[in-house]
Amino acid sequence: MCRVTRKRRAASALTVMASRFRDRRSAIRRSIARRCTATKGESAMKTLRRLSCLAGMLLLPSLFAPLGADARPLPAGSLAPLSSLLMPLPSVVGAHLIMSRLSSAPQHARAGHVYVLHGSVVNDGSAAARGPVVVHLLRVGTRPLAIGRTVVGLAAHDSTDVGVRIRLPRGLHNGSYTLVACVQRAGRSGKLGCVTAERHLQIGPRSRTRAARVSAAAPSAACSSGAHSLSPFGAHVYPETGNGGYTSLHTDVYLNYDTASNLFLPGTHVVLSNQATQCLTDFSLDFERTSPNTKDGPDLTVGSVLVNGQPASFTFVQPTYPGDPNGQNDPDPRAHEAGQLNPVGGPDNNPLPPACSPELLSTNPNKQFDLDGTQCPANKLVITPSSAIPSGASFVVEVDYTGRPGVHNDGDGTTEGWFRISQQNDAGGFVTTEPVATEDWMPLNNHPSSKPTYDFYDTVPLGKTAIGNGELVSQLANLPDANFPGGSTTWHWHSPEGIASYLVENSIGSYDLSVRLSSSGIQYYEAQDLAIPKPKAAANKAIMDMQEDILNFQSAFNGTYPFTTDGVVIGVPAASFEEEMQTKITFANGKIDLQTLHHENMHQWWGDNVSEANYNLTFFKEGLATLGEYFFIAANAQAAAGGSAAAFEQSLVNTFNTVYAGSDLLWTGAPSDPRPYTLFSGSKTYRRPGIAYIALRLILGPANFNAAFQQIQSTYRQWSVSEAQLESAFESFLPVPSASCRARLGQFFTEWWDTVYPPGGGANRPQITGPGLDGGGFHC
Ligand SMILES: [Zn+2]
Repeated sequence: MCRVTRKRRAASALTVMASRFRDRRSAIRRSIARRCTATKGESAMKTLRRLSCLAGMLLLPSLFAPLGADARPLPAGSLAPLSSLLMPLPSVVGAHLIMSRLSSAPQHARAGHVYVLHGSVVNDGSAAARGPVVVHLLRVGTRPLAIGRTVVGLAAHDSTDVGVRIRLPRGLHNGSYTLVACVQRAGRSGKLGCVTAERHLQIGPRSRTRAARVSAAAPSAACSSGAHSLSPFGAHVYPETGNGGYTSLHTDVYLNYDTASNLFLPGTHVVLSNQATQCLTDFSLDFERTSPNTKDGPDLTVGSVLVNGQPASFTFVQPTYPGDPNGQNDPDPRAHEAGQLNPVGGPDNNPLPPACSPELLSTNPNKQFDLDGTQCPANKLVITPSSAIPSGASFVVEVDYTGRPGVHNDGDGTTEGWFRISQQNDAGGFVTTEPVATEDWMPLNNHPSSKPTYDFYDTVPLGKTAIGNGELVSQLANLPDANFPGGSTTWHWHSPEGIASYLVENSIGSYDLSVRLSSSGIQYYEAQDLAIPKPKAAANKAIMDMQEDILNFQSAFNGTYPFTTDGVVIGVPAASFEEEMQTKITFANGKIDLQTLHHENMHQWWGDNVSEANYNLTFFKEGLATLGEYFFIAANAQAAAGGSAAAFEQSLVNTFNTVYAGSDLLWTGAPSDPRPYTLFSGSKTYRRPGIAYIALRLILGPANFNAAFQQIQSTYRQWSVSEAQLESAFESFLPVPSASCRARLGQFFTEWWDTVYPPGGGANRPQITGPGLDGGGFHC
């Protein structure tokens, strides 16, 4: 996350944007009217008929031919086959081709063999177009290979089914590949539109599986409740989040979202696939249905809960401070109080640790302790299945819910979560959620160490775009129904990689979405709200286009990029921060800047692939993202000096020395012991650890430092890391691994990460630095 822009507000700019917004819905209605001879000013019924007319235009017989036998069927509860037709995007002037779907290759497809993949192409533009459909084979770190091609010609507002013959090259290296089909919007020119076959192609044995990471199931003990928190005793930074007794493996999200009313409609549900790590009588999720923020907070209702398809009882309870010896149902009300610190204190001098972080409605520092000692809201959704779940068993939880998603008020008074977009001709949501607000729009195991994989099936009004993490699998249109009388589109996004709770992305609205294929086998998605004025959007795009260069630059330090996709979403709400949403970095206020993109992209390795084991380790990944900014500044210095490597190194030294001479704020709190109010303070969470990594790089030597990075990325891939694990990993790359050097490095970490200094600077700050840096250097 980057909260540099926290205080910015852009309300007046948004008004200007809105006036320039082209009404896409009107455009499509005009277009339909032309083709279907409807007239202006019709009733709602006529509107329906016109949409049906459009559906008719798109209902080619070939669409209803079954997909290849290997294709994965649409999930239960999703589209019925006959209500499904191809996605008619709003009409645009000129040709506008999009790929709508692509089937997967057979499960056991082999190198050197030939297969036929089935896909669909739509032209939602006003002009005919002809151009190639190309199927590419992608693998991170290698060039995309075009392995199949056909040509489609489409009239305006037409669609077609295609079969593409692909040949998998002989001698493919072992690994996981994605199959991606693309068309250009104007046939032979314009932005790319691509879809990815949901099932990846696996050549050779799979690499280490996620399943191996599932905690060992406890031996058969008496069945009991799962823990209502994943934090240890005494934790005081969001101790209310996370749930024990099971591991989250995969989540399917089905949102039926009406952009105009900002409501989740009937049919909205999540399906959470878990594995029990103990015998469970009951277990919990995190879900904030309502909040003190009555204007922008959520207002959600749970309809039903199923466990393994059977109705389960559920209730909402307050959190209890972790480790309460009286149990999770402690009748003492003091066991359920909010607080910034341990103990709660507050007006009643509560000696117990806090059960939750306060949801402040103000960012005024004088008000940060105002809610200490107040009761925590009942945001723990406790589910009791009809029979106990055995230890080690897989189980599936379905939660149906409806209502208004919203934002969460943090322990520092800022908000994050589902930001509503509501202006003329531009309605929807923009999701940016660190640290805890995913529970303000969906129930989940809300903790950064919980990292299920995801599929998103967002059904939204016709013409709206939904954006999730990972790969776009399909966009399929539905006939009008009770939820969407004007028709709808279901967008399916698939993340093959696990996602930490605060990095789940799901923005829905009037976004212009395109994708680029890079020479390194990564798909780069770019999305901007259409309300952003064209000159600004063009400037934004120029920066988004640099993401590939940034990623390649950062790979030299961090090693191979850990995901199959990367991307940026630029929204218009005045959210006060940018965030490293996994593979879909979010920028607010309608703009992006290059240095912050370096910061957020660095997070894709640090925070996203390797997550913090708990909130107090936020400094670990924010420090590394800040280091990404320092690397960017150093690279500019190097370029200005004609490519001199010495200039790169000198820039880092200068950065260290400048920050090290900085204010008391850097030293008067420990990065590893924040309170909710200071979790995102620039000095202790960003700059102090940021320059600590510069020092560490010089202590280890740049080559060893990079090697340590890459080993941590590999060891903790799609997982989380603790402070002790991190320190141990760096220690193993000490150039002189003597006992005294190890001890000295241990002291270095203690000084930089864990020590509170009195004000004054000078001796009241870390004294162990690094070779050639101000301070005491590193001697052992
Ligand atoms: Zn950050």
